[in-house]
Amino acid sequence: MNGTLYLCATPIGNLGDISVRCLEIFNEVDLIAAEDTRRTIQLLNHFGISKPLTSYHEHNKREKGEYIINLLKQGKNVAQVSDAGTPAISDPGEDLVRLCIENDINVTSVPGPVAGINALILSGLSTRRYAFEGFLSVNKRHRREHLESVRNDTHTLIFYEAPHKLKYTLADMLDVFGGERRIALVRELTKLHEEVIRTTLAQAQSLYTEKQPRGEYVIVIEGADEKSAESDENIWEGISVIEHVEKYIAEGMTSKDAIKRAAKDRGLAKRDVYNEYHKGASENEEE
Ligand code: SAM
Repeated sequence: MNGTLYLCATPIGNLGDISVRCLEIFNEVDLIAAEDTRRTIQLLNHFGISKPLTSYHEHNKREKGEYIINLLKQGKNVAQVSDAGTPAISDPGEDLVRLCIENDINVTSVPGPVAGINALILSGLSTRRYAFEGFLSVNKRHRREHLESVRNDTHTLIFYEAPHKLKYTLADMLDVFGGERRIALVRELTKLHEEVIRTTLAQAQSLYTEKQPRGEYVIVIEGADEKSAESDENIWEGISVIEHVEKYIAEGMTSKDAIKRAAKDRGLAKRDVYNEYHKGASENEEE
């Protein structure tokens, strides 16, 4: 008979957040597959648990995935842990779950901390409808495309972010979402320096031009206003190309981004919008 894969959530800071059931499962399983074995050893030592560990992370998930599946097929039980929080949320656990399903192996979860949901409930923003957007790409173009794709979403958006990328992300968010949107920067959850900054995107961006981001962050942003999202979608129907570009510039975009966005909205080539906009601008200057 096959064994079971237990997806075990571990603390995101405060060790007191480990569940009784999680400790029981750690004691019962044959092996713990950890994203960061050094971190998991510290956790196990703290609770006086000694158990065989193996690493399972982004860079070895293919070979290790097969190895773990073979053990499960031999009837061994395996616990999987992320470096913090809930496995399979922005970590390679997702692939192991898929492999288990493909191989008819039972998977169950041992619930516990997850940074995104805790940030959401502390944000003060709507929890009725929300979307987890995970990490944005380090590639600027992909990051912008991701943000553009959710610009008119009316539900609350949750992003994970590394401190050294926070400033760039806030600058891009300001360009795409505009300065009025409410935002919560949720830092160091469950730790000594836990902090929630509830403000607007414009203020957040200016705050972090002076302040150095420290620790782990979740960014929670309110969704687009339903009416403006609807009118935004059809904005180009009643206005000229030049007015369309100028509207985005007035919202804080660079002219390059405004031209790109207007071209996308209207299904036109960027070059055509660029030419029309600059032709119009130079005609206005001549007048
Ligand atoms: N699996 C984890 C979970 O359940 O939330 C997330 C892992 S992901 C690789 C790490 C990201 O989660 C960090 O970059 C940060 O955005 C967020 N995060 C993790 N712990 C956090 C904490 N204590 N406070 C704020 N954000 C945290």
